[in-house]
Amino acid sequence: MNKKLLNKYAERLKAAELKITPQRLEVLRLYDNSMLHPTADEVWRRLRRKFPSISKATVYNILEIFAERGIISTMDIGKEAHFDFDTSFHAHFICNRCGKIYDVKIDENLHFCLPEEHRVENIKIYFYGICKNCLDREKK
Ligand SMILES: [Zn+2]
Ligand SMILES: [Zn+2]
Repeated sequence: MNKKLLNKYAERLKAAELKITPQRLEVLRLYDNSMLHPTADEVWRRLRRKFPSISKATVYNILEIFAERGIISTMDIGKEAHFDFDTSFHAHFICNRCGKIYDVKIDENLHFCLPEEHRVENIKIYFYGICKNCLDREKK
């Protein structure tokens, strides 16, 4: 792994007060700047290429602690949890046909009428529909 990147991921772990392990670094490397929203299973399958003997439980634990410390966020859609490595504020579009997850940018003008004196700790917005790819396929 490139030393500069390695440092970047190590810093991220340190900032979250997590021990630095090769497996944790590899998870961060695999999904850095990716638009993917993998399930734990998918992360496990990719991680296995480098760590053939890594168990599913270990991968679950890594993702769980990452989510707990705010390094990633969880998405509770469908049967399996998906993980998002982009923790900046954005919504998601989920295709009812192919299941693909798309990021949706949100501008600052979005207005919600929240009840007064409540404290928001987390916002999750999901749009469900049919993606362009699936719609295009239908037309043919
Ligand atoms: Zn689709
Ligand atoms: Zn996302």
